Amino acid sequence: MTERSAGTRVTLVDCAKTFTDGTRALESLNLEIDAGETVAFLGPSGCGKTTTLRIIAGLETPDAGGKVLFDGEDVTALPIERRNVGMVFQSYALFPNMNVESNIAYGLKIRKRSKEHIATRVSEMLDMMQIRELKDRKIDQLSGGQRQRVALARALAVRPRVLLLDEPLTALDAHLRERLRAEIDALFRELGITAIYVTHDQAEAMALGDRIVVMDHGIVAQIGSPRAIYFNPGSNYVANFVGTVNQLAGQAANGVLKTEFGDLPWNRKEVGDIVVFFRPEAVMLTRAGENKLSGKVESVFFLGDRTRIILRGNKDQKLTVDTSGPTEYQVGQELGLAIDAEFLMTLKE
Ligand code: ADP
Ligand code: MG
Repeated sequence: MTERSAGTRVTLVDCAKTFTDGTRALESLNLEIDAGETVAFLGPSGCGKTTTLRIIAGLETPDAGGKVLFDGEDVTALPIERRNVGMVFQSYALFPNMNVESNIAYGLKIRKRSKEHIATRVSEMLDMMQIRELKDRKIDQLSGGQRQRVALARALAVRPRVLLLDEPLTALDAHLRERLRAEIDALFRELGITAIYVTHDQAEAMALGDRIVVMDHGIVAQIGSPRAIYFNPGSNYVANFVGTVNQLAGQAANGVLKTEFGDLPWNRKEVGDIVVFFRPEAVMLTRAGENKLSGKVESVFFLGDRTRIILRGNKDQKLTVDTSGPTEYQVGQELGLAIDAEFLMTLKE
């Protein structure tokens, strides 16, 4: 197989997976991943993300009829060592008895590269991942973030055609996760590598994915750009997985949607009993009486960058609203609300 550092197109044709115990981990999946694209698989634990990644890697075979193509070439029957993929896991999977340098060199040694080539490449990777000062350390002398840099360096050293990452940042603390996420993003862009990134973290999927594949019990719930997934979710499930969403029941007639929080202008085709969906940041808070909509503060959570407020209507529905700034809100306070019609979504439940 040719060795290329970037730009392999990955095609999955009817890839399903039923394990020998009968577990149906993945329903038939068809997906084309462009050369150089980053695709994030997003979904809760057990939805089939790792299984999909392992099929692409060659660690699992799809059920009969399923195919994996790299640049149009059928690699379904090729084992992992002949696919030239790089893998990075949550658990790092580094060799604890080797130092950083030897870990990075490992794949190159297996491929029987010359001593000079290995030395040059390892040196490049130490610089790329900014871990030169750690090169002689043993793996158990490294922090989580440092280990994940080494794991990335090891995966990239062999110039894989495709980089596969399975929840690589999950074990790290929030600050480090965010920093490494930004570095990974810059790295992918610089390398132009095709990357498939598995995560249950919606912020990670949004930040890194050119496209996101949202999965639900082995089924693709939606595929789209982060913006499309967030602003035009195809279902209640997707809307809830990529953020918080309010669900408000009302009656639509004559250009008005009547709800227990008040009346909303309504110029859409749906009439009668309907449910609208909108995100917490779609609501603007005003003084009581300043708007046709109002609610009573039930709880307030100051989160620093925003304040999250739970509002109750005059029956029993609740809304989650986010606002920013130093204004303090009191439990029991009446507030006026305005919701931009553009932010209202109607969804399959
Ligand atoms: P995720 O990575 O999204 O958490 P997985 O792909 O690991 O999900 O698993 C999908 C489903 O397949 C789960 O129900 C899991 O228990 C099951 N599964 C995974 N590997 C095996 C296996 N080797 N044998 C049987 N069932 C498995
Ligand atoms: Mg998994």
